[in-house]
Amino acid sequence: QKITVAIDGPSGSGKSSVSKEAARRLGAAYLDTGAMYRAVTWHALDAGTDLADADAVAAAVKAADLFISTDPDVEKVTIHGTDVTEAIREPFVSEAVSAVATNLEARAELVARQRAIIAAHGRIVAEGRDITTVVAPDADARILLTASEEARLRRRGLQLGGTQSAAELEAQVLARDAKDSTVVNFQVAADGVVTVDSSDLDFEQTVETVLEAIKA
Ligand code: C5P
Repeated sequence: QKITVAIDGPSGSGKSSVSKEAARRLGAAYLDTGAMYRAVTWHALDAGTDLADADAVAAAVKAADLFISTDPDVEKVTIHGTDVTEAIREPFVSEAVSAVATNLEARAELVARQRAIIAAHGRIVAEGRDITTVVAPDADARILLTASEEARLRRRGLQLGGTQSAAELEAQVLARDAKDSTVVNFQVAADGVVTVDSSDLDFEQTVETVLEAIKA
């Protein structure tokens, strides 16, 4: 049975791990659209593209030979044949990614590719910032996964293994969300989008709440 599930949320909401687990339990494919933004950003940096040059960034994104695994059990991203699965998680990519995310031509290109990937799968969970609103507004289930600022920073801190100070981390995460918010709204649920607040839920409870929202 075909089903498209769209999940949006800010960084540290637990979006990726929750979406991936929901996909596994639904026997569905999984698309991490943030990884696509990260991969093209990694490549632009690697190729020495001037990130301040919007036309150059857009051209690089359009020409990108990008592969992303849609198997929730296989994390793999390659760009122009280079495996960047690990590299795209580095802080230097997170810091530069808004140059791509705020580029409307680059977004249009990635949105088109994301729609094609979704269309190619019968069952898929796609997550990001604009899936419920732009990429798949007609998805069968649309969820905004939120968490209080405190809960998000706590989880981010755990993910990064506590190498950064809490204040540094807070400044970085809030700055990235603020930049992202200028082009995509993922702070407030659009019409028809179900909000799941994970602040006081553990991982299993969050997955179950999301699965219930999908069935409803
Ligand atoms: O989800 P993740 O933190 O990996 O996303 C990295 C960046 O990609 C976000 O900070 C945002 O700038 C961008 N992004 C986006 N639209 C999406 C997914 C990610 O603009 N659908």
